[in-house]
Amino acid sequence: MKIRSLLVLLLSMRIAPLILAQQTPQSLADAELPSVVGIYKGLHSHPELSGYEEQTAALVAKELRAAGCQVTEHLGKYEDSKHKAYGVVGVMKNGDGPTVLVRADMDALPVEEETGLPYASKVVAKNDEGKDVHVMHACGHDTHMAAFIGTARVLGKLKDQWHGTIVFVAQPAEEIGTGARALLRDGLYDRFGKPNFALGFHDKADIQAGHIGVTERHTMANVDSVDVTVRGIGGHGGYPHKTKDPVVLAAEIINAWQTIVSRETSPLDPVVITVGSIHGGTKHNIIPNEVKMQLTVRTYKPEVRERVLAAIDRIAKGCAAAAGIPSDLAPVVSVSKDLVTVSTYNNPELTKRLVDVWKKSLGDENVEIVDPTMGGDDFSEYSLPDHSIPAVYFHFGAVEPAKVAEYKKTGKELPTLHSSKFAPVPEPSIRTAIIGMTTAVLDLMKKS
Ligand SMILES: [Zn+2]
Ligand SMILES: [Zn+2]
Repeated sequence: MKIRSLLVLLLSMRIAPLILAQQTPQSLADAELPSVVGIYKGLHSHPELSGYEEQTAALVAKELRAAGCQVTEHLGKYEDSKHKAYGVVGVMKNGDGPTVLVRADMDALPVEEETGLPYASKVVAKNDEGKDVHVMHACGHDTHMAAFIGTARVLGKLKDQWHGTIVFVAQPAEEIGTGARALLRDGLYDRFGKPNFALGFHDKADIQAGHIGVTERHTMANVDSVDVTVRGIGGHGGYPHKTKDPVVLAAEIINAWQTIVSRETSPLDPVVITVGSIHGGTKHNIIPNEVKMQLTVRTYKPEVRERVLAAIDRIAKGCAAAAGIPSDLAPVVSVSKDLVTVSTYNNPELTKRLVDVWKKSLGDENVEIVDPTMGGDDFSEYSLPDHSIPAVYFHFGAVEPAKVAEYKKTGKELPTLHSSKFAPVPEPSIRTAIIGMTTAVLDLMKKS
């Protein structure tokens, strides 16, 4: 009897490493999925606005620690210091080797959730102005955090397959474009090492769950916020000839700006100029002294960005001069230094390499080359302005395949990111994101 149990023990000791050796990103993602989806639903029910991610960051820090990371909390310095920064960095060391940065973002949006899900958010919180607003993870950053935690757990269990240092970065304030800069300003690369590669991901509201989508080169735009005050000389609405009407002038300027896109820019360089807000006047019969406008300006290349921003200023001032506005009342055009996101550039060689990795780990049919968009994400900051750190930002699908098929057939739009009705399907989306991120990291850090 004793000899038999000894034999069993010896056999199980020999088999145990074999079982461990069979663990794959796929099998480990499956094993972690129920727990990680539980975390996702908890995060979804408890969203926090940009700059207020205190509880979210604490939870991510706890999970990274449990996955085997050395964790630093409260990382980040905002330029305006209006908010405390809740950046979290988890360092997972495994001997000498490359350093790879893996990033997820943590903030939610001031949106009232209308998904009807059992775990829908009912949270109301104060915004920067002290006003109560509903809060929702309408951009899916909760799926990112869940997949990020899953990735850390899986890589912590696959240490026999990689070497080097993984720097897990949970970033605050992505939606207002200030979080990544706040972390870099607080010495992210000095304190935790400059990575050899940077990887980020985002869910996508028009790709089916189970798929990964990626773009080579520019994948997201430069986003600039521009404030314009058109000034005139107000007076009676019945006597316009005795005034300089800033409302008519603002209308002319808006139309003239469209020629920056259609006449001044190469048709091969995408540009968007959207006037998202215009305010002027108080009453039907009063011509006001000024009109205020807020623009979002989207471009890819830095030289196009500079030219478009200069043209916005030139055209506003030129139209005002043509309308007879005195030079001391020329429009005031200011480009925000804080509300700016630089374009996200996917290193082409690295993208090709990872597409091959994903085709092997997820199947050829589950990897899509998608069009770039004019959205923005400050993940771009981790690559540095000269793109000297090769980076890839990929998408994972978040929509039921049947709904995507119907959308492709009928053109009936699906709820977009930031919509109150955006409801990612958790299991397949998060599973694919974990496998996508884990296999990418393993390939970049594999033992030779
Ligand atoms: Zn968003
Ligand atoms: Zn987002």
